[in-house]
Parts: sequence; structure tokens; C-alpha cells
Amino acid sequence: MEGFVLWFTGLSGSGKSTIADRVAEKLRERGLKIERLDGDTVRKSLTRDLGFSERDRNENIRRVAFVAKLLSRNGVGVIASFISPYRKIRNHVREEVTNFVEVYAKCPLEICIERDPKGLYKKALNGEIENFTGVSHPYEEPENPEILLETDKETVDECVDKVINKLEEFGLI
Ligand code: ADP
Repeated sequence: MEGFVLWFTGLSGSGKSTIADRVAEKLRERGLKIERLDGDTVRKSLTRDLGFSERDRNENIRRVAFVAKLLSRNGVGVIASFISPYRKIRNHVREEVTNFVEVYAKCPLEICIERDPKGLYKKALNGEIENFTGVSHPYEEPENPEILLETDKETVDECVDKVINKLEEFGLI
């Protein structure tokens, strides 16, 4: 089997990690080799020296792209979830890795603020966090993602099924 990189992008709280975790679980049940790369865990290890400026965010994604390249070219299915707000760096990942599939977890900012699963929007809106995507830092929407999920309209199960069906359609699983 060829590897692939399923790349979830979207605002904080849009549902990237929730959906990515469920997709990973389902694919592992099928016996596939899957690795998860998630913004929160990567930022505690590989890129713990980086912050949230434009430069650091891009460096964060550049390092992740390197890891994703090594894994995907060796037959591993990589499931990555990163806000990755800049279009240019997402396109860099697309060019670096084997079988890049961009998944846009689309959700209106107001709904993400209501969900606020980690309490970060509250802090960002109070000015306690700088450079917070959607509040004080830009987010460039994907123009042509392979998979579009509208997480305010579709349930988690529907989103997970949609992703898996697309991977089948693309012949990647
Ligand atoms: P992100 O990884 O994008 O920051 P999380 O997955 O951590 O987002 O949080 C998303 C929150 O939204 C979770 O609490 C999840 O249960 C909830 N949620 C509600 N509906 C959906 C949906 N359709 N898809 C994904 N998450 C959803």
C-alpha cells in the first residue's frame, strides 16, 4: 500500500483532532499502519522551541512536513491535524509528501468560540493570549481542499465516514 498524508486544517475548535482521532482508530482496526501527528503533541516535543508568530508557525509546519515525508514514502498513512493557517506552507507540504489529501474542517468562528473545548478563545478574547488564530491572527481558507467538512452542519460520525469514503475513492486505502 502507498502511504498518504491526510492533512486536517481549520480553526481551533473546528473539530480537527476529534475527527482525525476517530479516522485513525477506524483505519487501525482495518490493520493499516497509521501515525497521528497533532499540533498539541508536536509542539510539546519536536517543535517545543517555537511560538505562534508567522515565522514560527511556518517553521512548525516545515518540520512536520519533513516527518510526514519520511513516513508517507514508507507506506505509512499519516493523519495530521494542525491549524496551519497559511496557504503557502500547506502547499509546501503538498509538494513534499506522498499522496497529500487536504481536509478542511470548516466551522464558523462564532461556533468555535461557543465550543471553546480548551478555554483558549476565552483567554484570547481577554487578551491573555497573543496571535490567536481567528481572533488576533489570520486564517487563510483552503481554496480547493480534497475534502470539505462543515462541522457545524455534519455530525462527527458523518465527517468520519466522509473522510474514509474519500480515501477509498482515491484508492489510498
Ligand atoms: P481542533 O482539533 O480543531 O482544535 P477539537 O477536535 O479539539 O478541535 O474540538 C472540537 C470540539 O467540537 C469537540 O469538543 C467536539 O466534540 C465538538 N464537535 C461538535 N460537533 C463536531 C463535529 N461535527 N465534528 C468535530 N467536532 C465536533
